Amino acid sequence: MNKVLITGGAGFLGSHLCDRLVKQGNDVLCVDNFYTGNKQNIRHLLNLPNFELMRHDVTFPLYVEVNQIYNLACPASPVHYQSDPVQTTKTSVHGAINMLGLAKRVNAKILQASTSEVYGDPEIHPQNEAYWGRVNPIGIRSCYDEGKRCAETLFFDYWRQHALAIKVLRIFNTYGPNMHPNDGRVVSNFIVQALRKGPITIFGDGSQTRSFCYVDGLIDAMVLMMQTSQEITGPINVGNPGEFTMLELAELVLKLTQSKSKLTFQALPSDDPKQRKPDITLAQRDLNWSPKVNLEDGLKETIKYFKNII
Ligand code: NAD
Ligand code: UDP
Ligand code: UDP
Repeated sequence: MNKVLITGGAGFLGSHLCDRLVKQGNDVLCVDNFYTGNKQNIRHLLNLPNFELMRHDVTFPLYVEVNQIYNLACPASPVHYQSDPVQTTKTSVHGAINMLGLAKRVNAKILQASTSEVYGDPEIHPQNEAYWGRVNPIGIRSCYDEGKRCAETLFFDYWRQHALAIKVLRIFNTYGPNMHPNDGRVVSNFIVQALRKGPITIFGDGSQTRSFCYVDGLIDAMVLMMQTSQEITGPINVGNPGEFTMLELAELVLKLTQSKSKLTFQALPSDDPKQRKPDITLAQRDLNWSPKVNLEDGLKETIKYFKNII
C-alpha cells in the first residue's frame, strides 16, 4: 500500500485525485489551507480509515512520512491567483521547495501539477513540450506563470542535483464537477450564468481559443504518470486537443442548458493567451494516454453537478 500525500487535495482536481487513490486502497493524506478548496469536496472521505485531512499551508515546512507526493496546491483560476499574487508565487515556489525537500528526506516520488501557462501567449500552435514559451515576467498573470515555471526549474534541479524521482505534467484547461461556482474560470462561469439565466460574460470578442479536458481523463493521466519508470520525468502535456473559441463554448453551454441568457462583452484581461491547444504525442507515447470524453459529454456531466448545487 502506498502512503500518498496530495497537496491542494480539497480543490477541484485534488478532490478527484483523493477519491481515485482512496478507492484504489492507498493511504491518502490530503493537505490544504482551504484558500480555494472546499471541505465539501472531500467530506464523504473523512470517515474512511485510509483518508486523513490536514489543514496546512505548503509555504511552511511539512514533516510527514509518505512514499508518493502529488503537488497540486496553488489557486488555478486567474481571479483567485491574482487576488493575492505574492502568496501565489510563494505557494508555487516555497511550496515546491518544501515538497521537494520532503521528497528528498523520505525518498518519495513527486509529481508536479504544472500548467500550459508555462507557454504564456504562445507563438507556436499546437504547443509541444520543446517550446520554451512566451511569458510576460511582470504582468498580472506572472505570479502564476512564473511561479509555475520556477517550480519546474526546482523540480529539474532536485532531479539533477539529488537524483529525485520527479514527474512533471503540464495540464491544459480542465473542467468538471467540484469546480467552485465562484471559481471564475470560463466553464464554471458560463454554466452558472446560464443556469441562473444571467448574462454570459465574454471577455474580449470571444475569438480566443482554449482546449478543454474533462476531469476523469486528467486524473487517469496523473495516476499513470506517477506509475512510470524512473527515467520518465516529463514535462508531458496532458489535455484534450479539441480547440474551441469562447463564443463556441458559450453557444454550446446555452444549447445544453436550454438557457436564453444573452451574451455580454467585457474587456479582455491583459496577457490573456489568444490560442491554446496541446500537442499530446508524448502523453500518447509515454503514458499510452489520450482523453476519451468530448466537450459536449463532459459539459453535460458538469451541468448536472451545478444544477444540483446552485
Ligand atoms: P483549485 O483552486 O480548485 O485547487 C487548488 C487547491 O490548492 C485548493 O484546494 C487550495 O485551497 C489549495 N491551496 C492553495 N494554496 C495553498 C497553500 N499555500 N497551501 C496548501 N494548499 C493550498 O485548482 P485546481 O484546478 O484543482 O488546480 C490544482 C492544481 O492543478 C494547481 O496547482 C493548478 O495550477 C494545476 N492546474 C490546473 C489546471 C486546471 O485546468 N484545472 C490547469 C493547469 C494546472
Ligand atoms: N522540508 C520539509 N519537510 C521535510 C524536509 C524538508 O518541509 O521533510 C523543507 C525544509 O524546511 C527546507 C526545504 O524543505 O526548507 C528544502 O529542503 P532541503 O533538504 O532540500 O534543503 P535545506 O534543508 O538544505 O534547505
Ligand atoms: N473568459 C471569458 N469569460 C469568463 C471567464 C473567462 O470569456 O467569464 C475567457 C478568458 O478571458 C480566457 C478564457 O475564457 O480567454 C479561459 O479563461 P480561464 O480563466 O478559464 O482560463 P485561462 O485563461 O487560465 O486559460
